Amino acid sequence: MEGRRSDSLAGRVALVTGSSSGIGEAIALELAAAGAAVVVNSRSRERAEPVARAIEAAGGRAIAVAADVCDPAQVAALMRAAVDELGALDILVNNAGVGFVAPSEELALEDWRRLIDLDLTAPFLCAQAAARHMLGAGGGVIVNIASALAHTAMPGRAAYAAAKHGLIGLTKVLGIEWADRGVRCVAVSPGYVATEFVRENMRRGSFDERDIERRTPLGRLATPQE
Ligand code: NAD
Repeated sequence: MEGRRSDSLAGRVALVTGSSSGIGEAIALELAAAGAAVVVNSRSRERAEPVARAIEAAGGRAIAVAADVCDPAQVAALMRAAVDELGALDILVNNAGVGFVAPSEELALEDWRRLIDLDLTAPFLCAQAAARHMLGAGGGVIVNIASALAHTAMPGRAAYAAAKHGLIGLTKVLGIEWADRGVRCVAVSPGYVATEFVRENMRRGSFDERDIERRTPLGRLATPQE
């Protein structure tokens, strides 16, 4: 974050799940640079704290809140922290997610469930808990971070593609269900972005830089800031 760049979100409170690293961290810094107060979330407070401190060092306002977004009670407490400590909840970014590549005939049920829990059920839990505040307050925005795999298919991505396709369906339903009460629900589908998520998959041999060049119109990994 290069300090406050605009006031377009001044007075707003944003919460970004899984924002101690990668795309979520970049989104948290960007929202803060636009003037929003930000709840930085991670499963561990120690990991979320440095991002919150970076926002404050640049003149913004932020708190670090530990919560596992797969746990409904922790999700409710996370949303309450925004309202209790920062005064509102105007923007939720459902970013926390995981992805792996595995042949479908070998995919363990427990791995399938773990991914669906984090990439599909958790965004629903967070959207539901956030909307209970937003609908009462008369408005808000929910942004779901989907994926190119929400729109297309590749071998070995059964759980990830199912979750991300489902996330688009969820976004559409919530979007039309809550629009007339002032809550917008939208999704963003990034291509390959240089984060730990991609580096881990490259280390496992799931794909390499040449694959990314071939599959990406830009011919390279995007940066989280992009
Ligand atoms: P990342 O691994 O850097 O970040 C994911 C974050 O989620 C981490 O900070 C992690 O600690 C957090 N997290 C994991 N489980 C959690 C839980 N139970 N509760 C709270 N937080 C949890 O990955 P990233 O690349 O920044 O991915 C962020 C999102 O972007 C994911 O939803 C991913 O599917 C999506 N995405 C990434 C890419 C890419 O190429 N990197 C492409 C398309 C979509």
